[in-house]
Amino acid sequence: MAGLSAARVLRRAGCYVEVFEQDRIIGGRMATMRLGTASFDTGAQYVTVRSSSFQKYVDELVGSGYATAWAPRGLNGEATPTMQQWFVGTPGMSSILRPLAESVRIHTSRRVHTMKRGDKGWNLWFEDESRAGPFHAVVCAVPAREALLLLGRIEKLADPITRVRMSPCWAVMVRLDSKLLPDKDVYSDMSEVIRWVSRNNAKPGRASKGDQVLIHASPAWSRETEDADPEAVAEDLWAEVSHALGLPPTRPAQMSAYLWKHGLVETSLGETFLFSSEDMVGVTGDWCLGRMAEHAFDSGARLGKVVMDALE
Ligand SMILES: Cc1cc2nc3c(=O)[nH]c(=O)nc-3n(C[C@H](O)[C@H](O)[C@H](O)COP(=O)(O)OP(=O)(O)OC[C@H]3O[C@@H](n4cnc5c(N)ncnc54)[C@H](O)[C@@H]3O)c2cc1C
Repeated sequence: MAGLSAARVLRRAGCYVEVFEQDRIIGGRMATMRLGTASFDTGAQYVTVRSSSFQKYVDELVGSGYATAWAPRGLNGEATPTMQQWFVGTPGMSSILRPLAESVRIHTSRRVHTMKRGDKGWNLWFEDESRAGPFHAVVCAVPAREALLLLGRIEKLADPITRVRMSPCWAVMVRLDSKLLPDKDVYSDMSEVIRWVSRNNAKPGRASKGDQVLIHASPAWSRETEDADPEAVAEDLWAEVSHALGLPPTRPAQMSAYLWKHGLVETSLGETFLFSSEDMVGVTGDWCLGRMAEHAFDSGARLGKVVMDALE
């Protein structure tokens, strides 16, 4: 989100931009993953809007059918009262990134291993020892720990980043052949182990044969079990949810667990972004401003503007 948000600002200003993503697909923590015939939002569950710039973007998404409002049902089938309106991507959360990715050159399965600045600009090296560059400027839009690995030598960027804390989060996708969950669509902070449960198929635009349940474990439990076998994690978390909801013993049609290693921001940087005009490199991410997708969007857009000004 942060990287593509910066890329769009730079692209619109006429810069030539290339994006390098380590995964096979783009999206990062705004992922939509498949399990058999079903798809699940395994990271961000919805987005909220505070800034006018993100409001404008969400209006654009809603207008083009990439997102819609979601009011999940509470107990007794009523809408859950929330402080702010929730929006979800359609047909999955990753759709929220679609317009940002348009007209940007994106390379997937390209993990940046090393970045170095030479006489002609920045060069990037990848795990297969291939190289890209030189580039006039680099925007580093990765979780804080990764940013430190890449930019550790630039003290004025590295020192503040060490303040940031991010915690792991296990996500479990559960596909059920029949509708099993009670009326409510979301449950938050159910126990010391379970942080969030949602009926993914209750979101607008999702197919709904049976129930598709998405579970997020608490940061504390996720940290304790970081090295555990994903299959065992899926079993444990499904047992915990079944117990908490008083469900009859049921064997899911399919289950799968995924660990977000740097999932949730615990302590943010408290600044919109970091940028060194001397080195022509900046750092962005949700962890700069807060912990939500909207923070990533705003952080990236603001850094994009500053890089653009520095390039002029
Ligand atoms: C379980 C969970 C639930 C959440 N729920 C919500 C929610 O309901 N609402 C909300 O607003 N937010 C939520 N969030 C937070 C939201 O997902 C993030 O704020 C947002 O996606 C962050 O975007 P980002 O661009 O800063 O980082 P990321 O999405 O992490 O993007 C960083 C990208 O960099 C790539 N990368 C990392 N290292 C390298 C490298 N060396 N080379 C190349 N590529 C690299 C990664 O693969 C990734 O694609 C949730 C997050 C998690 C994990």
